[in-house]
Amino acid sequence: MSTSHDGTLLDVRGLTVRFPTSDGVVQAVSDVSFSLSRGETLGVVGESGSGKSVSNLAIMGLLNRQRTAISGQVEFMGRDLLTLPPDDLRHIRGKDIAMVFQDPFACLHPMYRVGAQIAEAVTAHQDVSKDAAWARAVELLDHVGIPNAKSRARDYPHQFSGGMRQRAMIAMALVHNPSILICDEPTTALDVTVQAQIIELIEEVKREFDIGVILVTHDLGVVAETANAVMVMYAGRIMEYGPARQIFEQPQHPYTWGLLDSMPSIERRLTALVPIEGSPPSLLAPPPGCPFHPRCRYRFEPCPVDRPPLVSPLPEAHPDACHLAWDEKVREGAKRSVTRLGDAA
Ligand code: SF4
Repeated sequence: MSTSHDGTLLDVRGLTVRFPTSDGVVQAVSDVSFSLSRGETLGVVGESGSGKSVSNLAIMGLLNRQRTAISGQVEFMGRDLLTLPPDDLRHIRGKDIAMVFQDPFACLHPMYRVGAQIAEAVTAHQDVSKDAAWARAVELLDHVGIPNAKSRARDYPHQFSGGMRQRAMIAMALVHNPSILICDEPTTALDVTVQAQIIELIEEVKREFDIGVILVTHDLGVVAETANAVMVMYAGRIMEYGPARQIFEQPQHPYTWGLLDSMPSIERRLTALVPIEGSPPSLLAPPPGCPFHPRCRYRFEPCPVDRPPLVSPLPEAHPDACHLAWDEKVREGAKRSVTRLGDAA
């Protein structure tokens, strides 16, 4: 949800990703469109296999172009990343668009000091001395809240806690002052107590560096307090997409209702969570009609046959892909309405 045309960093139109396999074509991402502005956090939410991570790998140019059919447009500051020569794309990747992955331990080399790995990231795109690169690594480690950064930079990854390793990965992503930070499940591998600190750090970094953040997660709770816009994905498609306040106060899609029903909250602490029954479909043969219909408690005649388009039911509503009547969306959405901290006023 771009807030201003001037500040738009990323404009994705009709992104579609297909993987041909010996069993058939995997329809990983279908017709995904969104935009991201400076200072904005876009939460991309869905279960495993919803296409959220593949969308970001396509944006980063990290999918093998020989083995993947990618179409649509991914405009980054006016340049379509899908048609850029590999060398130009490599220049943008890691420099202008950086990524933080789920498991920092898997991303850091166990045999090199943390500071040396960040310093190496500095010299990958900048012609600076080793000492200057090391100084920048220490400065960034300090910036992301590593205590005694000067000495801790000499530690190996196993000497860091999980939260510190993720802070180090965020430091590495910031090395070249990127415009966009893509965080793919950045807190999933961390203890609950550390998760909130990392989300807070990402928000701080967004404000200080004036960047746009894409926060990919399976957990609506992770984006609840931080995202400005939320895109809910299922089976490679967008189910609903709108300002975060609307998605939490008036969710319009049964899949989002299911995610909210299964999300722990203070009010629901003493009541049972309601999981979404069944599992996501195989993307080799997604169901016809609405992809969510086999699991949807609200399905009716058109759902297994007609695919609902992603449209706004009313001008003041955000787009959703569901056949239900507006009255029912309002009624059922109101039952799951969540007021976020800071939105109450
Ligand atoms: Fe459920 Fe039908 Fe809406 Fe799909 S279109 S989410 S099956 S009610």
